[in-house]
Amino acid sequence: MNPANPIKFHVLTLFPQMIFDGLNHSVIKRAIDNGIIFINCVNIRDFAGNKHNKVDDYPYGGGTGLIMRPQPIYEAYRSIEGVDKNTIVCHLSPRGRPFTQQIAKHYAGQSNIVFICGHYEGIDQRVIDEIATDEISIGDYVLTGGELAAMVVIDATARLVPNVLSKKEATENESFENGLLEHSQYTRPPIFLGREVPSVLLGGNHKEIEKYRQTQAIEITAKRRPDLL
Ligand code: SAM
Repeated sequence: MNPANPIKFHVLTLFPQMIFDGLNHSVIKRAIDNGIIFINCVNIRDFAGNKHNKVDDYPYGGGTGLIMRPQPIYEAYRSIEGVDKNTIVCHLSPRGRPFTQQIAKHYAGQSNIVFICGHYEGIDQRVIDEIATDEISIGDYVLTGGELAAMVVIDATARLVPNVLSKKEATENESFENGLLEHSQYTRPPIFLGREVPSVLLGGNHKEIEKYRQTQAIEITAKRRPDLL
């Protein structure tokens, strides 16, 4: 399998190896190897444009920490081939809109997506205003850098791209499909440490099994995430 147009994830980062190391496993590695998805890391430091490859500087107005300079990020972005004004350019930020399965589905339909990973205290606002089309947060907490967030978004997006998952791994009944969390899952043995698999799952009546799973999914969602219902 080697589609002519793999979805391309371009990651602007100070730590490209983190992205390669993090994504080069399991299902995502298989998709990369099969040419269905393509990961292109651009090292922002290569565009520092000064003797010491310095990409950060002190904040105007004072305050703690360092801010990533706009120029290297802009140059790194400009070095990417094949992006145009319709390309999603996603700045990972705790100030972004919360990442969801819906956003992953939208991203999975793109041919190119650019991710901008901040570090230190963040990025000069002007380059974000210039190139970012989207700002995404992966949760209400602060990470050291945007790399882990980019990997979360890429992973969740990539598995929705056709042919990334095999039929056996399909996403149809997963959590967040149909606005529900998934029902509980069981495999062999039928009794584990005295805990039995629900008998309906062993009976072979597919209608009953479907009904049981649907009811369980609704119950679990109502209990844990009533906001989804
Ligand atoms: N000073 C920033 C603030 O208070 O909003 C936090 C900067 S954080 C230490 C460094 C980088 O990590 C950010 O520029 C962003 O790219 C990334 N980051 C941190 N938390 C994140 C989150 N919850 N979602 C997405 N990216 C995050």
